[in-house]
Amino acid sequence: MSRNFKSVAVGETLRNAIVKINESTLGMVVQVDHQGRFMRTVTDGDIRRALVDGLSLESDIGGLREVTSVTLDADATPRAILKLMDERRIDQIPLLDAEGRVVEVVHRRDVHAPILLSTPHIGDDELFYVREAFETNWIAPLGPNVDAFEQELAQIVQSPAACALSSGTAALHVGLRLLGVGAGDTVFVSDFTFIASVNPILYLGATPVLVDSDYESWNMSPLALERAFEAARRSGRLPKAVLAVNLYGQSADYDPLLEICDTYGVPLIEDAAESLGAMYKGRPSGTLGRLGCYSFNGNKIITTSGGGMLVGHDAEMIARARYLSSQARQPFSYYEHTEIGYNYRMSNILAGIGRGQLKVLNQRIDRRRQINELYRAGFSDLDSVQFMPEPEWSFSNRWLSSIVLGDDKSSIDIHAIIRRINENLVEVRHLWKPMHMQPLFQDADRFDTGNHSVSADLFRRGVCLPSGSNMTDDQVAHVIATVRKCLVQSGL
Ligand SMILES: *Cc1c(COP(=O)(O)O)cnc(C)c1O
Repeated sequence: MSRNFKSVAVGETLRNAIVKINESTLGMVVQVDHQGRFMRTVTDGDIRRALVDGLSLESDIGGLREVTSVTLDADATPRAILKLMDERRIDQIPLLDAEGRVVEVVHRRDVHAPILLSTPHIGDDELFYVREAFETNWIAPLGPNVDAFEQELAQIVQSPAACALSSGTAALHVGLRLLGVGAGDTVFVSDFTFIASVNPILYLGATPVLVDSDYESWNMSPLALERAFEAARRSGRLPKAVLAVNLYGQSADYDPLLEICDTYGVPLIEDAAESLGAMYKGRPSGTLGRLGCYSFNGNKIITTSGGGMLVGHDAEMIARARYLSSQARQPFSYYEHTEIGYNYRMSNILAGIGRGQLKVLNQRIDRRRQINELYRAGFSDLDSVQFMPEPEWSFSNRWLSSIVLGDDKSSIDIHAIIRRINENLVEVRHLWKPMHMQPLFQDADRFDTGNHSVSADLFRRGVCLPSGSNMTDDQVAHVIATVRKCLVQSGL
C-alpha cells in the first residue's frame, strides 16, 4: 500500500512537523521512534499547544506532551474502524503492523458509508396525505385514507376487495380465521419462509405442516405439496388451508399448487408480504388463492412503516375481515359481541403513507429489478455465485436480490462469509432459516420432494444482498466489489 501519511522522527523540529502537516492531505503527521515505530499522531493543534507551553519552532518534536493516540491493527475491519472513530469522535486512525509501524492512516472519508439491506424509500406524496389526515383530525384507525388505500391497492392488484390492517402478520391471522382455521386443525405452509407466515397458525391453535420448496422458484414445491396431501388423505386428516409464500418477490408456481388444492377441496391463502407488484403468468401476486396478504413493514418494497392488507375475490369475506379486525363488534348502538375479534385495523395516518407509496410502486419495482441486473452482471464471471432463478412464468418484484454460493455438495461457512461482508459495512443477511430448523417447530411434520431438504440447502449457502430501491449505482458497485473481495478471502 502506498504511504498516505507523513512521519516525523525524534530529533526533527516542530517546524519540520508543521511543514509536513501542511503538505499532507490528512492535516497531521505521525511521530515515530528511531526504529520507525509509531509513537503518536501530531496535529497543528498539538504544535500550537506546545508553543503556548513555551516550546519554539526549533524545539525537538520529542518535547511534545506525551499522549496515547488511538490506533488499530492493520487488519482492522471498516466496521471496527468506524466504530472507534465514532466512539472517540475522531476522523483518522493509524493502522499498525505487528512491529508497531504505521501501515496506513485511515481517514473517515475513506471509509465507505454503511450500505443497508433494504430501507424505506419515500416518494413525493406521502406527506400530503398524512398532513391532510392531521388537518382534518382523522387521527384514527379508520378514515378516508384507509378507505382510499384499500380501493387503490385493490385496483392495482385487480382484486374486488381489500382490508387494510396493522401488519402483514395480522392479515395472515385474520385470513386464516376466515378460512375456518381453528384449534386442532392443520395448515400446510411453506417450510422456507419468515416466522410471520407460521405464527398466525399457532395463534389459532392449529398445527403447521411444513412443505419444502423447489429449486426452480425457491417456493412451495407442488411435488412436496402432493406428498403432504397423500399422507393427509391416508391418515384421514386433510388440512384446513394451504398457506403458500412468495419469497423475495417471486411467486410460487400456482397452477399446479391450486390444482392439487382443488382436487382436495382445500383453500389456498397466499403470503404475498414480499411480492406486491409481482406477477404469476400475468396475474398479480397475492390474488391467485382464495385470499392474499401483503405487508408494508419498513423493509418491504413499499412501506407504511408498519401495516398489511388482506385481499380476496369474495367481497363478503373481506367485509367480515373488517368486522373481525375491529373487535368483532356487532352492528348495534351499544357494544355487542358474539365472537372473538381483534384490534387490527390500519391507522388513517399510516394509510396516508401507503397511498403515496402506491404511486411509486412501479418505480420501486423497476429500480429493484435494475439493481438485480447490475448484480447479475457484476458476478456473471463467478461460477460460485447463482441467483435466485426467475422462471419464465414469473415476473418478480425482486424485493431482495438473493444468491446461493457453491453447489449442493460444497462445504461453505456461510456464517463466516456473511460476517466478513458485514464487517465491511455492507449489510447482507442469511436467507430465511427454514421453519423445520427452528426449535419452535422441531417436532412439526414436514414433506419434501425426496430425501433432500431444498430449504435447508438454500439456507446453508444463501445470502440476501442490499437491494433498496434508493441505492445508487455507485453503492451497488461498492457492494459487488466488497462481496467479490470477501468471496476471494473466503476461498471462493
Ligand atoms: C414481512 C413478512 C411477513 C409479515 O409482515 P409484517 O407486516 O411484518 O407483519 C409475513 N410473511 C413474510 C414472508 C414476510 O416477509
